[in-house]
Amino acid sequence: MCTEVVDLLEPLHDGELDIAEQVRVENHLEVCAACHATARELREVREMMSAALVRTPRLEVPHPRMHERRFVLVPFADLAPDVRHPVTRMTIREMRDALPEHEMVQPWKPLS
Ligand SMILES: [Zn+2]
Repeated sequence: MCTEVVDLLEPLHDGELDIAEQVRVENHLEVCAACHATARELREVREMMSAALVRTPRLEVPHPRMHERRFVLVPFADLAPDVRHPVTRMTIREMRDALPEHEMVQPWKPLS
């Protein structure tokens, strides 16, 4: 049940569930502490993303070419793959998977 519920959290927040699914997910969130915590984290990340929407003549946040940058999207997708870009509405995972394969990103390792 939990994996299925977690997959429905983003559609729940986006208002994309039918009423029966919405009630089922919300009932589960009332009794499952783990899913409740995941839902809260997801909501906080979404709020952070929308709060970070800035458009001035000299500054755009998120960066207008964020969707082209593997060094941004690979670590972001590790942290929050289902978060949607506030403008394109694509998930971070969808943007990462749409990148061309020629760029490599490797996790940083400290020198020993
Ligand atoms: Zn659960």
